[in-house]
Amino acid sequence: MKIFEEIESEVQSYARSFPRVFHRAQGEFMYDEEGEQYLDFLAGAGTLNYGHNNPLLKEALIAYIQEDGISHGLDLHTRAKAAFLETFSEKILKPRGLEFVMQFTGPTGSNAVEAALKLARNIKGRENIISFTNGFHGVSLGSLAVTGNSHHRGAAGTSLGGTERIPYDGYLGDGIDTTAYLDKMLSDSSSGVDTPAAVIVETVQGEGGINAASFEWLRNLEAVCRKHDILLIVDDIQAGCGRTGTFFSFEEAGISPDIVTMSKSLSGYGLPFAVVLIRPELDQWRPGEHNGTFRGNNLAFVTAKAAIDHFWSDDSFERQIKAKAAYVSDRLQAIVDRYGEGNFETRGRGMFQGINCVNGEIAGKITRAAFKQGLIIETSGADDQVVKFLCPLTISEGNLKRGIDIVEKAIAEVCAGEDHIPEPVDFFEEDYSASDDDRFKVAS
Ligand code: PMP
Repeated sequence: MKIFEEIESEVQSYARSFPRVFHRAQGEFMYDEEGEQYLDFLAGAGTLNYGHNNPLLKEALIAYIQEDGISHGLDLHTRAKAAFLETFSEKILKPRGLEFVMQFTGPTGSNAVEAALKLARNIKGRENIISFTNGFHGVSLGSLAVTGNSHHRGAAGTSLGGTERIPYDGYLGDGIDTTAYLDKMLSDSSSGVDTPAAVIVETVQGEGGINAASFEWLRNLEAVCRKHDILLIVDDIQAGCGRTGTFFSFEEAGISPDIVTMSKSLSGYGLPFAVVLIRPELDQWRPGEHNGTFRGNNLAFVTAKAAIDHFWSDDSFERQIKAKAAYVSDRLQAIVDRYGEGNFETRGRGMFQGINCVNGEIAGKITRAAFKQGLIIETSGADDQVVKFLCPLTISEGNLKRGIDIVEKAIAEVCAGEDHIPEPVDFFEEDYSASDDDRFKVAS
């Protein structure tokens, strides 16, 4: 559309992959202004885990707006904030045996990362932060410094310091434990690596190509942190809020981070909202030291509380995610086996999975072919070589199958040529489309 070419900046990114004017959205569907329907396997890059305009959250939000609830209150105590804090404490932290205080930062993931890095540096009185190859933590200067991607780093226009990069799990191939390398570097006073304040890590690297660290590697990383008196920061901005199958992505690994950053799906409704979870004894901020006008979005407090009440009051949502994740794993593996000719591979865990298509050209052809079939799906990785499946966790089984069918067809098209398009493999023995409405039947 002309207006976007005329006055919107060239910096646009996702809009280039999906050149439509979108107007409405519901659940796992988006609609353009012509009324065309699209199945959304991008879901706000992990922001819409509970789908678009989830009716349960919308209801709570509308009621709050109708009663003229506080929409902006700096960091004032509000009833909405109190209710969110109580719910988060009772339903998320306590059942998991976690003790954290919550810092509300500016509303983006980068804002939370900046605060976490600043806090860690101040606590330890050290500048260095250990970050990992292919890590992504944001594009403001501090968060960009710990981000690997050269496309983003190249735009900084200034030096990006204060961090030392270490190979992530699997980066040097199977069987090489890169935490042993880190331990060695930190143990050697002549390694050239200054003792860091903290390590910042994603348990599954989203933008970096859906690289899932093994639980053992994460436990080893935690042990190295403890051994060298380094804080462990888990960036759960994309992997958190159920994406990997549990509320926090580190739960199954059994590690205890000192600091956790969260944003994206935390509000549940796509509203900007970010927090830093801090072990209580590490909350060494002085009043107002880290400031900001938009710290704690009251509308997001309302929807985040509703999301936790509805989805995280018991384990039924977790079980649903795990069932869907098992289906995704089976389907993606079968697709790779069938079309990958030994080159493609599956990656990730939970509902955070992808297909590594070796290069960005092939992956791009696949996502473009899928878009022609009404599926919004993106790529990630250093060369955009990974097709990334990031649909809402609340998606119906029928639509999950439909989306993967579209990708399978797109892969068949790209790999086998247009004249040879095999029928997609059908995994479901039952007709899952019949259970479409089950997605909202979680904890009343
Ligand atoms: N950390 C991770 C793991 C992310 O995936 C992202 C966003 N893709 C960020 C931080 C930055 O969040 P934001 O774009 O909201 O600044």
